[in-house]
Amino acid sequence: MPDIVCLGEALIDFVALEACTDVGAAAGFIKAPGGAPANVAVGVARLGRTCAFLGKVGDDPFGRFLGRTIQEAGVDISGMVFDPVHRTGLAFVSLTDSGERDFCFFRNPSADMTYSIPEVDLGLITGCRIFHFGSITMIDRAAKAATLHAMNSARAAGNIISYDPNLRPPLWPSLKVARRVILSAMSGSDIVKVSEEELAFLFSAEAELPESRPELGDTKKHALRLLKRHPNIAILAVTRGAEGCLWWTRAGEHGALSGHKVTAVDTTGAGDGFVAGMLTALLDLAMKPLDSAALGNLPNKDLGQIFARANAVGAIATTRKGAIPALPTLAEIQYLITSN
Ligand code: ADP
Repeated sequence: MPDIVCLGEALIDFVALEACTDVGAAAGFIKAPGGAPANVAVGVARLGRTCAFLGKVGDDPFGRFLGRTIQEAGVDISGMVFDPVHRTGLAFVSLTDSGERDFCFFRNPSADMTYSIPEVDLGLITGCRIFHFGSITMIDRAAKAATLHAMNSARAAGNIISYDPNLRPPLWPSLKVARRVILSAMSGSDIVKVSEEELAFLFSAEAELPESRPELGDTKKHALRLLKRHPNIAILAVTRGAEGCLWWTRAGEHGALSGHKVTAVDTTGAGDGFVAGMLTALLDLAMKPLDSAALGNLPNKDLGQIFARANAVGAIATTRKGAIPALPTLAEIQYLITSN
């Protein structure tokens, strides 16, 4: 049985070859496998832990390419569903001349949106130790029911639940709906990872994303509010891009690590790498029992080790193009940690 099961979307990003006014003006695109939970699954396998990916893609050339890519990275795809009717989700992305990202999604609906309860491989979920999920499969009704069913089954089996909401505003009907759904899933989670921008969004007056970088003081205030509102959360990790990360535990431990100095070329997948580093380092502590009570009581010595790895994986993920090709092995992160 796998150590970790990641459930969610796997899709293809078509990234424009050059900056342009919008995606329609791009002369060409490069194909990049993506989907945050799929990236986490590959990250976990690269770091030497067994992992399965659960989700649905189209039984088309792009879906088969995703299945192959994830499997070749060492992830168990026996629970992946290949849909003969709906196509694999595609996202066309370009950088506009002013540096903004322009998206065009082909999800009308895509296979991942129609993932349903009977398609969830409960055998893999109940046999694992950590179940990880995100919010994209909670946007549409069928996939939301499947995601919550999987999460509740993992909980009932005594597994640790890890959640990275990964807000993608263009995919939601409104940011208010996004906030409500994202917050509702916090109540079932033991480990939550959010970025500082997502945390500011969750506590903003009108459910809007911050226009500038959140103040550190506000981030700390919001983190404590989130923990108070959801006492089930044992560990809360907040990522801060190049600035590194912060963490809190239910028992009141708190710490921070600054980011590694690297030459970032593409930050896609940094947060997913961070999650893979965090979860594998947690397993390497070999805690017995590995449960919510033990997690919430972890001392800062252990948390420092966990987040040192998470920070290193996130940093290396930014040094190469794409998410999956950039995710490092244990040897690479050990080299970065010891040379800094
Ligand atoms: P997300 O991708 O979820 O928005 P972040 O951008 O905050 O998450 O990045 C996740 C983690 O990756 C950070 O906490 C940090 O450890 C690492 N990281 C991201 N960008 C950089 C960078 N430019 N330099 C060094 N580390 C980085």
